[in-house]
Amino acid sequence: MTTSASSDIAQGAQYAETASAAYQSALQVIETIEPRIADATRKELADQRDSLKLIASENYASPAVLLTMGTWLSDKYAEGTIGHRFYAGCQNIDTVESLAAEHARELFGAPYAYAQPHSGIDANLVAYWAILATRVEAPALAEKGVRNVNDLSETDWEELRHQYGNQRLMGMSLDTGGHLTHGFRPNISGKMFHQRSYGTDPETGLLDYDALAAAAREFKPLVLVGGYSAYPRRVNFAKMREIADEVGATLFVDMAHFAGLVAGKVFTGDEDPVPHAHITTTTTHKSLRGPRGGLVLATAEYSDAVDKGCPMVLGGPLSHVMAAKAVALAEARQPSFQAYAQRVADNAKSLAEGFLKRGARLVTGGTDNHLVLLDVQSFGLTGRQAESALLDAGVVTNRNAIPADPNGAWYTSGIRFGTPALTSRGFNADEFDKVAELVVDVLSNTEADGTSKAKYTLADGVADRVKAASAELLAANPLYPGLTL
Ligand SMILES: *Cc1c(COP(=O)(O)O)cnc(C)c1O
Repeated sequence: MTTSASSDIAQGAQYAETASAAYQSALQVIETIEPRIADATRKELADQRDSLKLIASENYASPAVLLTMGTWLSDKYAEGTIGHRFYAGCQNIDTVESLAAEHARELFGAPYAYAQPHSGIDANLVAYWAILATRVEAPALAEKGVRNVNDLSETDWEELRHQYGNQRLMGMSLDTGGHLTHGFRPNISGKMFHQRSYGTDPETGLLDYDALAAAAREFKPLVLVGGYSAYPRRVNFAKMREIADEVGATLFVDMAHFAGLVAGKVFTGDEDPVPHAHITTTTTHKSLRGPRGGLVLATAEYSDAVDKGCPMVLGGPLSHVMAAKAVALAEARQPSFQAYAQRVADNAKSLAEGFLKRGARLVTGGTDNHLVLLDVQSFGLTGRQAESALLDAGVVTNRNAIPADPNGAWYTSGIRFGTPALTSRGFNADEFDKVAELVVDVLSNTEADGTSKAKYTLADGVADRVKAASAELLAANPLYPGLTL
C-alpha cells in the first residue's frame, strides 16, 4: 500500500511543521474575535480527514495554495486589467495577476490567459460575452462606422440589443453530462441564447460526432460548446473544431472538470482542448487542485473582449485568490503534477474495473478520465437512495442523472464518483478497488422503500463495517500529515 510519501500536497516534515504553525497562529487570532468560526474551521478539517471523499468536482489544495489566500492582497481594489486599472496603487496586484496569467499560458500553451473570474460560472459568462462582442457587436459597429456602443443611434442600439439575445448555442445535454451553464433555461446562458443540445449514442453512451455534425449543420450555432461535468470519457476536440469551422461556430470548451488532466498531460493532441478551441474556460479548484476560482484561455482574436470581463460581468478581482491561482499553477507546472494526473486516471480505471467485476453497470461501460458514473438501477435504487445510504456509511458522493434518466434530475438513477481528491491523499489503484468493494457492499445491502424515491433501509452492521474499512484506508493516506491544530 502507498503511504503519505506519495502525496504531493504534503511536501515533507519541515513544510508540514511550518504550515502547522501558521494555521495554529491564524486560528488563535480568529478566536479572539469569533471563536465559533475558528471552531467550524477546525471541525471542517476533521470532517475532511475522516470522510471518503469521492465527489468528482472536489479536491484538496496544498497548504501553500490555502495560505496564499489569507492576506491583505484581499484589501485592494483592482478593477481593469494588468497595467490599466481604474484605481491607483495596483503595482503589486499587477505582479500577482501577471504571474497567474503567465503560469496559465505556459502550463496550457495558450496565447492569452485571464485570471480574474471568481468561479467557473463567471469564467463562462466572460467567455459568452467575449464571443458576442467579437462575433455580433464588432461587426455591427463596423457596419455603422462607429467605434463604441455609445455612438450608436437609439434605433441601431435597440437592434443590436435584440441581436445579443437571439444567438444560437449548442452544448451537451444535461442528462448526458453537460453543465447548466451550457445553455439551459434555469441558467442565464439559456435565457441569453437560443439553445439546442447534442447527446450521446443511446446504445454505447459515447459521443457520436457524426450525429453532432449533422445537428450542427441543421442548427448553425454561433457557439459550439464542448466540455462536461459527468461524461466519463475523453473528447476529440480536433473533431469538434472541424465541425465548428464547417458551420461557422466559435468553439468554446469548458474544461472545468478535467483541466487537471490537461495540465498533467494525460490529455494531449486531439484530447487537449486548448489548441483547438477559440476560447477555453476552467475552474481552478477541481482536478487542477487550486483555490476556488475560474480562468479563461483565449486566442488573440478573442483576448481584447475577454479582458473586458471586469467590470462587464465580474466584480472587482479577488487579488488574494489570483495569487493562490499563481501558486497552484506553479505547482501544476512541476513534474510531480503530471505523475498525479496520471494516477488520477489510473485510479479511475481501477475504480471502474472494481465496479464491473462486482457486477455493477457503468454508463459507457467504463471510464478514461477522472470520473465514473454508476447506474444504480441494477441495485433497485434511485440515485437519491444510493447517495444517502452511502453517506450513512461515510462515503461522500453525489447523485447524478444518467442518459434518459427515468427518475429525472432530482432523484436520478446514477451516482458520480471522482478520483482527484483521494488521489491527492495518496490513494493507489488497489485502494480504489477496495473503495469499489465498499460501495458495492453498501448498495447491495440497501433496500428501496417502495413508497418513496428517497426512503430506504440499510441492513444492520453494514455502515459500521464499511466505516471501519474506510478508516483504515484513510489512516494509510493521511490528509495534510503533520498538520495539527
Ligand atoms: C463545476 C463546473 C462549473 C462551475 O464552476 P463554479 O466554480 O462552481 O462556478 C462550470 N462548468 C462545468 C463544466 C463545471 O463542471
